[in-house]
Amino acid sequence: MNDILPGEVETWQFLEATAHEVFGAYGFSEIRIPAVEKTELFSRSIGETTDIVEKEMYTFDDKGGNSLTLRPEGTAPVMRSFIQHRLHNLDPVSKLYYMGPMFRYERPQKGRYRQFHQIGAEVLGVEDAKIDAQVLAMLYQYFCRIGIEAVSLQVNSLGCPVCRPNYRQNLIGYLEARLEKLCPDCQRRYQNNPLRVLDCKSAGCKVAIADAPSVVEHLCADCDQHFEQVQKYLQTLDIPFVLNARMARGLDYYVRTTFELVTDQLGSQNAVAAGGRYDGLVESLGGPPLPGIGFAIGVERLVLMKGEQRVAPATPQLFIAALGDEAADRAFVLMSALQRSGVRAEMDYLGKSLKAQMRRANKLHAAYTLILGEEELASGKAQLKNMSDGSQSQVDLVGLADILLQRLQG
Ligand code: ATP
Ligand code: MG
Repeated sequence: MNDILPGEVETWQFLEATAHEVFGAYGFSEIRIPAVEKTELFSRSIGETTDIVEKEMYTFDDKGGNSLTLRPEGTAPVMRSFIQHRLHNLDPVSKLYYMGPMFRYERPQKGRYRQFHQIGAEVLGVEDAKIDAQVLAMLYQYFCRIGIEAVSLQVNSLGCPVCRPNYRQNLIGYLEARLEKLCPDCQRRYQNNPLRVLDCKSAGCKVAIADAPSVVEHLCADCDQHFEQVQKYLQTLDIPFVLNARMARGLDYYVRTTFELVTDQLGSQNAVAAGGRYDGLVESLGGPPLPGIGFAIGVERLVLMKGEQRVAPATPQLFIAALGDEAADRAFVLMSALQRSGVRAEMDYLGKSLKAQMRRANKLHAAYTLILGEEELASGKAQLKNMSDGSQSQVDLVGLADILLQRLQG
């Protein structure tokens, strides 16, 4: 679990602000949900035989004896909230997004942490493939806006309760013939959850599934048509994508369209965002039978990808160096007036020498400094120094806040 310190947090703020802006344009509203839910919400929705539920959840009993879990993902809690507050009564289509920490007990490594952050979006109430394409278009637009282009969008369809059983059976047969190549986890669960093997990170499983039957060849007519439409709309919107017929997802609730944004810049943690349709989920959690689709972006992985192009911290626009108590009081009033107007102004509070104050102004990368001493107070004029080129100009102390405002904001 990481601290996010000044110097890095600016990149986070940029990533979050851009999400608010882009998602807002697509008609999404933010929803804020608790970090803790009843354990059964996750075991019922994500699936008992998934990695998350089998081994990654932070689960504990509270003092009332209820089993609670730190949320490992955002979709199930958003569905719980959606159902509880009957949000479907407000509008037949709900577009929601969230951002915040998620918790999974994983083996920590680059791009994989125990507290990590997701920015996610969900649409409820639309089966039409236009919404699949729109959600992907929004995700794509977000990545364009944050300046991360080294990603590839992989899409697949996992079919539905009509066609998946047939595919599942096929896949089980295929895996059975290659059982000795699978990792112990997959050997144990391939019968109950054969699709999980497609998503397994172990090298042996990856080799074993290389020629596995493809789900898109087993889609029923409805799913086939839906997936065709998704691809058609993606082409209409000029969203580049590749079909990856062997992509499954690590959560059981997905049906039909699924997708991942992958990169080759993060080693084996290659997914920066992932999602898909979960048409039966709301109903299975006790809500109305509404289709849904969504995604989650891993923020830490975005920050890693931003690498050297991180957002620089804001620096003072003006540092006021004051010498003597009277000048310091004057500097204090001036600084406060500028701050009220939104100018990033700074001064010394420690009674340092002029030289030390100038050193600090330099270190803070202040754009300008203003020196106020006895002489300046007496003459009513002071020198404003441009720290990048060293040039100085004389300014009147009367009405100085307004003059500086014009100069610094102009
Ligand atoms: P992975 O295959 O890397 O384990 P996942 O399939 O478990 O990812 P999802 O549950 O789909 O991931 O979550 C969506 C995104 O959240 C991932 O694509 C990834 O960017 C990010 N993510 C998931 N787990 C972690 C983690 N432990 N630390 C950092 N980011 C994570
Ligand atoms: Mg995982």
